Amino acid sequence: MCVTWQPRSLTALDAVHECARRIYRLVSRFCRRLAARMSGKPNPKVFLCRDSRGSAAAPASFEKCCLTVLGCSQDKMDIGYVYEDGRLEIYPSGQGIKLAHPGRCPCRFLTSSDIANIPDRERSQGVKVAVAVLLQSSDGRVLLTRRPEHMRTFPNVWVPPGGHVESGETLYQAALRELSEETGLRFSENDLNISTLGLWESVFPPILSMEPCRPVRHHIVVYLLAQTKEDHSTLNGRLRLHQEEVDAATWLDEETATQAAASDDFGQSLKVPQRYFSAIVVENSRMVEKNLPLSNLMACLPRTAADGREQNKERLSTGTKFALRQWLKFLYPPPPGNLQRGDSFETVFHMLTKTGHQPMKAPFWGK
Ligand SMILES: [Zn+2]
Repeated sequence: MCVTWQPRSLTALDAVHECARRIYRLVSRFCRRLAARMSGKPNPKVFLCRDSRGSAAAPASFEKCCLTVLGCSQDKMDIGYVYEDGRLEIYPSGQGIKLAHPGRCPCRFLTSSDIANIPDRERSQGVKVAVAVLLQSSDGRVLLTRRPEHMRTFPNVWVPPGGHVESGETLYQAALRELSEETGLRFSENDLNISTLGLWESVFPPILSMEPCRPVRHHIVVYLLAQTKEDHSTLNGRLRLHQEEVDAATWLDEETATQAAASDDFGQSLKVPQRYFSAIVVENSRMVEKNLPLSNLMACLPRTAADGREQNKERLSTGTKFALRQWLKFLYPPPPGNLQRGDSFETVFHMLTKTGHQPMKAPFWGK
């Protein structure tokens, strides 16, 4: 493993700044929550409408798979969504936005006794709203961060910056707040070109054999793409990782993202390349640049609950793989018109070349 080309240590001034940032964050979060409680506004929740017109939305249930409730028996569907006044309303629609969940969504496997064992305080939460932002640099890389081992949910997992949407916030405000709090990268909405990549149903634990063997968190994550005019080296200079929530960061290029996004959660069917990716890792309060094995991003879900270390092994979250696939599709959209199986070579060649498409770079059409 190679270490450091530009080690950057925290000076005493940086340490004071970091400490002040932590206190500011704690106080501002407390004030936001207090203000939300006093305003009487409920925490943002998910509402589902089976009707494509979006009428008669009902609150999503903590223990029920959202896709199943929306009438989908597969693992992804086309939807539309509206977020207003703390309500994320999702309805079937052909707007080109995907709602997806892991191939083995835990909520599809709950028995009636499993459901009976879920405490009322958890069931009454419903399905919460979260946001995650894939920040794209001007040189075509996206920022991922690693959750520290002490996190209660998804420890050691690589994800884009993000978190809960708090009452009174828009999705964009929540995304930019989380980005700033976790990485120190501050932007206004005008600095960025922001769009929706897709929606992801996230349940923790991701498989029911993991402790505590029942769902404890259920969210819909809205994945946003935020394109900036700065390149990743410039942004690296502004990076100040919030060590309580992030212990590493990396700027994934397209090739690495393509390989990581194609990996399988339930038993690796791909040959994992013997490659490394560059990351900034927090070690003893210092940020150092390291090369980490790509296999860290292509690890499968742990299979058993018996070994705690195994449960916390480093990997890329399933939702992040979904978001990366949507990003790669955004970069290389399918050609206009519909290619059909059996189209002549001339037709395919004409459709691809007239629009400058590069089919070898677009392995995720339809995913
Ligand atoms: Zn589901």
